Amino acid sequence: MLVLVINCGSSSVKYNLIETEREENVCKGLIERIGAVTSIVKHEPAGQKPIKDTRVIANHSEALQEIMTYLLDTDNKFIDSKSDIKAVGHRVVHGGEMFKDSVLIDEDVTDAIRQAFDLAPLHNPPNLKGIEAAKEALPNVPHVAVFDTAFHHSLPAHAYLYGIPNRLYRRYKIRKYGFHGTSHYFVSRQYYKITDKPVKDTKVITCHLGNGASIAAIDGGKSIDTSMGFTPLSGIVMGTRSGDLDPSILFYIMEKEELTLNNLHALLNRHSGLLGLSGYASDMRDLIAEAKNGDRRCQQAIDVFCYKIKQYIGSYTATMNGCDAILFTAGIGENSPLIRKQSLQNLNYLGVEIDDTVNEEAKSGTIQKISSDKSKIDVYVVPTNEELVIAIDTAKIAQAKSQSPWV
Ligand code: AMP
Repeated sequence: MLVLVINCGSSSVKYNLIETEREENVCKGLIERIGAVTSIVKHEPAGQKPIKDTRVIANHSEALQEIMTYLLDTDNKFIDSKSDIKAVGHRVVHGGEMFKDSVLIDEDVTDAIRQAFDLAPLHNPPNLKGIEAAKEALPNVPHVAVFDTAFHHSLPAHAYLYGIPNRLYRRYKIRKYGFHGTSHYFVSRQYYKITDKPVKDTKVITCHLGNGASIAAIDGGKSIDTSMGFTPLSGIVMGTRSGDLDPSILFYIMEKEELTLNNLHALLNRHSGLLGLSGYASDMRDLIAEAKNGDRRCQQAIDVFCYKIKQYIGSYTATMNGCDAILFTAGIGENSPLIRKQSLQNLNYLGVEIDDTVNEEAKSGTIQKISSDKSKIDVYVVPTNEELVIAIDTAKIAQAKSQSPWV
């Protein structure tokens, strides 16, 4: 089934056209700076060089029109008509407590996504804009919402409750939700395909290390804890997000720096993390390059990042009473031997041993074991594919819908 996957940010639309039976990406692209004087458009047919251009794109609706025009272009031959696309899958960041699985989008679902605006003010509003724009562009196909939070619905109460008055959970649903669910799900499933152990007995720690980063403990196929929380701000240090903090720091900074809530929000989400620590960059490649040149603060940022990863690995090994495999994924996890090695340094008590040569030579885009034969825990680099998870879920639901109107 040909499925269009849409992932909308406040000023961007990312898309993938995926053939689900063959699990094949046909074409993908990104439109950025929507609403600015000029927008940047990138289309990338599978196996070919990306085509970049600039256009005036005022809103998400126009972005979807641009994508459809490109896909329908007779020179490209991706689709002959809109009806070749059988379903649209939407990445929705926050499903609140309501959505444990992907769902067909109807009015109730859009209302529920709207209700979760408070929980994810940066993500859910643009996600909904994307849904509305795509429904306008493709009104006759099923649209499916796939939630970043859904995979973590299996967290037990002792893992998702915070130590604050329970009334706040009951009233405002303040609890840990966790994010990057489709990625943690996908990479753990990739590992299950190559291990002989039954899934129900397998304990895995997945490290999604990208610009946003989170770690999950997956026991018997189910997420039982994860480092992000009520929002994607908590957990390990990220590109520009602080990760875990002593909450008292917030009152202290607000008072000392006379910050408003908005200022504080920006400080923790956009000016902290690797960028804040290094005072130089949020991009790990830049930090590694500058640390090599002797920049002390860039080195410190890398050290903090790796230390936090190690802390979570230790914590989740305790949580699960063991660990069979540690899986590294996303931009940093898939591409940086240095970060993988440093995060796993001095974990001898767990019996983790990396094969340095294999780690250094691991190629991007393939699953690769990087632990030595003596290691008691398997360590793998596993490329993530969140779009494929969204496309497959969408195809499943669209198929069911075609068989019964009650789906
Ligand atoms: P993502 O959000 O998954 O696209 O990941 C983005 C992050 O991956 C950025 O911090 C990049 O610097 C980092 N990254 C990509 N390639 C490499 C690499 N070869 N070495 C270190 N970090 C990398």
